[in-house]
Amino acid sequence: MAIAKGWELVVGLEVHCELATKTKIFCSCPNQFGDEPNTNICPVCLGLPGSLPVLNYMAVELAMRVGQALNCRVEPSIFHRKNYFYPDMPKDYQVSQNDLPINIDGFLDLPDGFRVGIERAHLEEDTGKTQHMGTSGRIHGADYSLVDYNRAGVPLLEIVTRPDIRTAEQAKAYVAELRSILVATGGSDGKMEEGSMRVDANVSVRKSVDDPYGTRCEIKNLNSLRSLVRAIEYEANRQVDMLTNGERIVQETRHWNEEDGRTSSMRSKEEAMDYRYFPEPDLVPIAPSSEWVTAVRESLGLMPADRRARLSEATGGNLGTGSDTIVAIVEQGLDEYVLAAVAGGGDARRAINRVANEIVTPEVAAKIDVAMFAKLLVLEGDAKLTATQAKQVLAEMIEQGGGDPETIVVTRGFEAMDSGVVETIVDALISAHPAEFERLKGGDAKVTGFFVGAAMKASGGKADGKLVTSLLRSRAGLASER
Ligand code: ADP
Ligand code: ZN
Ligand code: MG
Repeated sequence: MAIAKGWELVVGLEVHCELATKTKIFCSCPNQFGDEPNTNICPVCLGLPGSLPVLNYMAVELAMRVGQALNCRVEPSIFHRKNYFYPDMPKDYQVSQNDLPINIDGFLDLPDGFRVGIERAHLEEDTGKTQHMGTSGRIHGADYSLVDYNRAGVPLLEIVTRPDIRTAEQAKAYVAELRSILVATGGSDGKMEEGSMRVDANVSVRKSVDDPYGTRCEIKNLNSLRSLVRAIEYEANRQVDMLTNGERIVQETRHWNEEDGRTSSMRSKEEAMDYRYFPEPDLVPIAPSSEWVTAVRESLGLMPADRRARLSEATGGNLGTGSDTIVAIVEQGLDEYVLAAVAGGGDARRAINRVANEIVTPEVAAKIDVAMFAKLLVLEGDAKLTATQAKQVLAEMIEQGGGDPETIVVTRGFEAMDSGVVETIVDALISAHPAEFERLKGGDAKVTGFFVGAAMKASGGKADGKLVTSLLRSRAGLASER
């Protein structure tokens, strides 16, 4: 499903990321997912009277790491109290950065070069978690609710884009790239399935790129890339339908329901709360020294974009930085593996294709010693194995969790046929099929396939297809292919 013809989409994303600190943002309780409910709590994160917060240095450091990786400026910042009531928030206010956030004015470039502006990336504390018991799983119609405060006070970085995104696929690419950056900086594990990364999408539509932005709706509860794409497309078309029917869009917060594939209204802007923001009196302003900011920036390693460029370079620019295989390899963190195989003598492009299509995940790569993978690539590069055979050997290495390709080649009787034998087969085929050979001489490309197929059959799949083709062409007096 795409957006209806004659309409333009506008999307801005707000992503909440749990920072990978050892402890919470204002106390020393462990920041850990999946523990027994209400075990990682103390008077500070429960907001008990008289308790005082102490800012976690690492939360600030990680916020600056991610912010600078997103090309933001680090600014002096302060915390505010955002006041509202919800049972998962024991203090009755959330400590968050409001008008003076730590990171402002950055951007993220998608692998295809499209630039998404970043308005801000600010620090705040996470809330606890409620679980509504009953069939709906939502508060309406629940029999009772349970609350777990382990997450209350976990440091969050909220990263807000400008309304620059124009398609659902771009939104997906943005979140995927942001996740890679979070992992690369050590800022967060980026696990959407564990809620380490939570996405809200602001969606509006307009008739033309020259029109002003339309009224937007904000969609909550997008916890996978698939939901993100589906929800944006559903919501855009809902708005198009309304506008086409002469109805007005009201600015509101909407909930994405994964089962129904629909969004539904949660609250309108009129019902929006007045948060009565005021500066948090128990915390001092954050004013990182320029030395600290610089040291953080200089300690950043290679970002995904640099790593894609490095892979592309290894192929001599043959594969572009935005190519699907290179993007996938960097996303999976398998680029070092590819480069090690290249250092071991493997052809870069072949290594990239095999890793992206056959090895695919770090779990599989972990089973196959990279030196053995390189050896396989060299065997194929030296035409000791055909491409089909090499893939079969790799499949066997994957299945048995490693092994030496040379041993597999021998036990399977896989060696590519000696070129002399291939020559004999080709010559025998030419004399057996004189009419077809005449057509080949006349430049009929289709007969090449016939001869190659016949040579494969005669050799039991062991002849190198490229060698067969070049022999045929030279026998027919045609220039060799390039
Ligand atoms: P608020 O102050 O209500 O949170 P912001 O101006 O901070 O609103 O915007 C929140 C998010 O909504 C940002 O990601 C922004 O890019 C996005 N956004 C703003 N206007 C639009 C629009 N007309 N259509 C789509 N997204 C929008
Ligand atoms: Zn605590
Ligand atoms: Mg905002």
